[in-house]
Amino acid sequence: AVTKAGWHFDNSYARLPKSFYSFVKPTPVPAPRLIILNDPLAVQLGLKPDVLRTLDHVAVLAGNKVPEGSQPLAQAYAGHQFGHFTMLGDGRAVLLGEQITPQGERFDVQLKGSGRTPYSRGGDGRAALGPMLREYIISEAMHALGIPTTRSLAVVTTGEKVIRETPLDGAVLTRVAASHLRVGTFQYAATWGSAEELKNLADYAINRHFPNIITDGSPYLLLLKEVVKRQARLIAHWQLVGFVHGVMNTDNMTISGETIDYGPCAFMDTYDPATVFSSIDTKGRYAYGNQPHIGLWNLIRFAESLLPLLADDQNQAVQMAEDVLEDFPRYFYDQWLKGMRAKLGLINEEPEDESLINDLLQLMRQHQADYTNTFRALTTGQLNDHPFFETEGFKQWYVRWKQRIDSQQASPEAVHELMCTTNPAIIPRNHRVEEALEAAVKDGDYTVMEKLLQVLSQPYAYTPDQDEYATLPEPSDKPYRTFCGT
Ligand code: AMP
Ligand code: MG
Ligand code: MG
Repeated sequence: AVTKAGWHFDNSYARLPKSFYSFVKPTPVPAPRLIILNDPLAVQLGLKPDVLRTLDHVAVLAGNKVPEGSQPLAQAYAGHQFGHFTMLGDGRAVLLGEQITPQGERFDVQLKGSGRTPYSRGGDGRAALGPMLREYIISEAMHALGIPTTRSLAVVTTGEKVIRETPLDGAVLTRVAASHLRVGTFQYAATWGSAEELKNLADYAINRHFPNIITDGSPYLLLLKEVVKRQARLIAHWQLVGFVHGVMNTDNMTISGETIDYGPCAFMDTYDPATVFSSIDTKGRYAYGNQPHIGLWNLIRFAESLLPLLADDQNQAVQMAEDVLEDFPRYFYDQWLKGMRAKLGLINEEPEDESLINDLLQLMRQHQADYTNTFRALTTGQLNDHPFFETEGFKQWYVRWKQRIDSQQASPEAVHELMCTTNPAIIPRNHRVEEALEAAVKDGDYTVMEKLLQVLSQPYAYTPDQDEYATLPEPSDKPYRTFCGT
C-alpha cells in the first residue's frame, strides 16, 4: 500500500538470512525539525513534498514514527579499514526499506544518525548537523555532476545534542541508494556465513543490480566482472573531477558502483596526485592519485570473498578471478582517457593525445595550477587571469593543443559544447562549503547553503552567477583538513 506521503516499501533485504541484519527501530528524538528537503528527489521517488513537510511526516524522517510497510533494520557488514579487517555494520543507521517508485524502480531509504544498533560498538549512534549537511551538499553536487552516488533526501535536527569534542546539534540524514550492498557485506558473508548464505547474498546482488546477467557459466564470475567495470568507471569519474573520497575502506565501496560515505571527502583545488584531506590518512593511502590502485585492492578483496562460488577447485577459482581483475587497469584507463579527451575537446583519437594530456597535468602540478579552473579557462578561452597561463611551459603546450584541435574534423561550436559538458564550471569548493555550513550551524542561516545548492545543481551551466563560486580560497599556511564520522 502507498501511504499518504507516498511511501511504498518493500523489504527484500529482510528476506535474506537473519545473519545479514538485525531488526531495530530508530531511537526517537525530542524535537524533530525539518532543515532541508530535496523536492526533486522526493518527486522522483513518488513522495509528496508538501505532505513530507508536515509535522506528522517529519517525524518519519527523524525516526520517531515508522511508516506503514517499513521493517526497519540495521545491516551487518565487515570491512578493511585502512587495511585492517574488522566487523562493522550499521552503527548509526537503519534501513527503512526499499521505496518502490511509480516507475517501478527500487531505492534503499536509510536514516543515518538514527540511534544505536547492535553494531554500534562504542558509538552513540548519532550524527551532528554540520556533517549531515555536508553530505547533503556534496552528494547532491556529485549527482548533478553526473557521477553515480547515494543521494540525500532530507536533513532534520533532533533537538538533542551529540557530544563530540564539544556538544553539537544532532541531526538525521535520509540517504537514498540503489542499495547499501558493499564489498564489506560480501566479506562479512565469506568470513562468518555459511556457503549457502554467501550464495544467497550473491544471488540477491545479481537480482538487484544485474538482473540481465545470463550465462551458461558462472553468474558469480559475471557479478565480479560487472562490479569491476562499475568501480573502474566510478573512480575514473572521480579522477576526472578531482574528487578525493578520503576513506575508501572496503565497507565504503558499493556493489552498485555508487559513491558512498561522504565523511572526509573533498575536491582538490591545486592539482597534485598526493592530495589528501583526511586528518587520519597520515600515510596517504587514500590520496587522489592512489584511488585507482586502492579501487583494485578493494576489488581483490571482493573477488576473494566470491572464490567459494566461482569453482569447486580453489586454484581454478583464483585463476578465474585473476583473469577478471586483470582487466581493471584497462577499464579504468580507457574511461579516464576518454574523459580526458573530452575535457580537452578532442573528438577523434590520436596517439599523441596521451602525452598532450599528461604534459598538461605535469605542468599544472609544477606550477600549482588549480585543477578545475584550468579546464574551465580552457573551456571559456579566458586565459588572462592566472600566472600559470603566462608560463613558457603552458604557452608551448597551448600551441600544441590548438594545433591538435585544428587538425580534427569538428566545428569550434562542437568542441566548445563537448568541453562545456565535461568540465564543470563549478565544484563544491571547500571554503564555499565551509562558509555555508558555518552560516547554517552557527547562525541558523540556511540561505547561504540554499544558494550554494542551487548553483551546484547546474555545474555545467557556465552562467555568470557561477563566477563567484569559482574563486579560490585565500592562500593559507594551514592545509584544508576533513574529519570522519562526526
Ligand atoms: P565510516 O568510517 O564512516 O565508514 O564508519 C565506520 C563504521 O563506524 C560504520 O559501521 C558506522 O556505522 C560506524 N559509526 C560511525 N559513527 C558512529 C556513531 N556515532 N555511532 C555508532 N557507530 C558509528
Ligand atoms: Mg562508512
Ligand atoms: Mg562515514
